[in-house]
Amino acid sequence: MDEQKRYFSRELLLWYRANKRDLPWRRQSNPYYTWVSEIMLQQTRVETVKPYFERFIGKFPTVEALADAPEEEVLKAWEGLGYYSRARNLQTAAREVKEQYGGQVPNDKAKVSALKGIGPYTSGAIMSIAFNRPEPAVDGNVMRVLSRYFRLHDDIAKPATRVHMEHLAQELIPEGCASDFNQALMELGALVCTPKSPSCLLCPVMEHCEGRMAGEELILPIKTKAKPPKPELRYAALIEGTGEHEGKVLVRQRPDTGLLAKMWELPHILVPKQVGIVGMSDAESYAILHHSLQAEGVDVAPVEHWMDAEHTFSHIHWQMRVYRCNLRNLQPKDNTVYKWAGPEEMEELAFPNVFVRLLKIRFQ
Ligand code: SF4
Repeated sequence: MDEQKRYFSRELLLWYRANKRDLPWRRQSNPYYTWVSEIMLQQTRVETVKPYFERFIGKFPTVEALADAPEEEVLKAWEGLGYYSRARNLQTAAREVKEQYGGQVPNDKAKVSALKGIGPYTSGAIMSIAFNRPEPAVDGNVMRVLSRYFRLHDDIAKPATRVHMEHLAQELIPEGCASDFNQALMELGALVCTPKSPSCLLCPVMEHCEGRMAGEELILPIKTKAKPPKPELRYAALIEGTGEHEGKVLVRQRPDTGLLAKMWELPHILVPKQVGIVGMSDAESYAILHHSLQAEGVDVAPVEHWMDAEHTFSHIHWQMRVYRCNLRNLQPKDNTVYKWAGPEEMEELAFPNVFVRLLKIRFQ
């Protein structure tokens, strides 16, 4: 290893040991905790994850507890974190670990990599952090740090670049220190070598950082832009209960597969592409909502526009217009399940964020 690499590994490790953050999943070495935290941290900030992690581990303290829990409870514990397939895959994998490995996360990279929802980054993180095995754990943060420090201009959106970075990251791991070193690399990316304003003057490896020396810390890493999310206009119905359902609203469960599978939502429809919010009269919107929901067995009379909401998934952007509606008849088709939900049911059922926000406003 050349001096630039040796310097990087040595200084980074020293810095980490003196500066590491006290995070709930670092307080004791437990492969299950590492696994849960790494899945939660995908696409989500550390500060957001902390309370979720503590609640989740409080509710499902072991692999077995997670494997044996009803899926609805797991989704509820995940509510608000988004990307719900992560929670489903985590539970499926917990069941595999329970059945095949007696509830112990195996100290074997091939076996861990074969579990549902575990890609190269997560398996590298579990093997290195929990078992101190010299495996690289390369995500966007790590690629940013390495691109800058070694002044690499390869496009980090390309799989070949990731493979190259994995080799480089593996080479940098000091003997016997994989756990601390990989966490140090992640920590540097999170706290110092941040995307928009790297704190080079506070950085433990600044002396040999080629990107900084070339004044390129803000243009690296090179990354081609992903396609923007596809916009979708949706009309939703806020249907108030009457009589024994007074104070509740009608919600439906999504299908067993696909986006947000099995979660709960206000009944809503995808508005045909040629129709836009601008230029549509309320009467035209009412007619579209009425006819589309009627085809699903929900006969409503829209009465007024209630509010708008939006939500961006990785590939779709929902622009949602919500109408208050009166229910005339309910005869669900295609085995779709409907329920009357009030604040009490909200405690049990898992809703995607956009509906949590809307229903909180409705029930406040
Ligand atoms: S010196 Fe600056 S650009 Fe280089 S690794 Fe440190 S924070 Fe990142």
